[in-house]
Amino acid sequence: MGAAKRAGVLALQGDFEAHGTALERAGAAAVPVRTASDLNSLDGLVIPGGESTAMLRIMKDEGLMEPLARFGREHPIFGTCAGAILLASQVSNPAQDSLGLVDIAIERNAYGRQLDSRVVRLAPEEEFLRRMGQGELETVFIRAPIIRRLGPGAHVFLRYNGDPVLVSQGRHLIATFHPELTADDRIHRLFVEGL
Ligand code: GLN
Repeated sequence: MGAAKRAGVLALQGDFEAHGTALERAGAAAVPVRTASDLNSLDGLVIPGGESTAMLRIMKDEGLMEPLARFGREHPIFGTCAGAILLASQVSNPAQDSLGLVDIAIERNAYGRQLDSRVVRLAPEEEFLRRMGQGELETVFIRAPIIRRLGPGAHVFLRYNGDPVLVSQGRHLIATFHPELTADDRIHRLFVEGL
């Protein structure tokens, strides 16, 4: 067997530790990323959930915007919830800067106040089941965004109320929920297999 793929986890704010554990379960070596030089020799990166405004401010303060954008032009990035917002090309409610690596429009906190947090079981699309194994996915939504527009070439693996919630585009993967909070490894394996 070859050496394990090295997957970084942006560890500035939010839910990064659980992603490290999930990546290791999926067979990758998880590496915390706090500076631009931490990106050296990684095969891919996870940008976790948390608070995208706070993460964005730290990314700017630490001079990470350009290094992350450059990394993402050559390597896969998996953005979950706030991470999805930071990858999107267009952000609303309210508008804010982003890395613009994935051609989607995304609306923050789009389920409104009444849906601060919800756990739902969803049936994945056929392609996901064929590649990653059968069975519904348990999904945890926490003050989640909704993808309002998908650019060309996007691939939908899972929907909730008709809206795409797990999507790949080009080399990147986006989830509007928190796959690191359940014991099901399939989504992290999908990402690790693409590294
Ligand atoms: N509501 C957060 C934001 O807009 C995202 C929430 C999350 O990552 N769970 O940044």
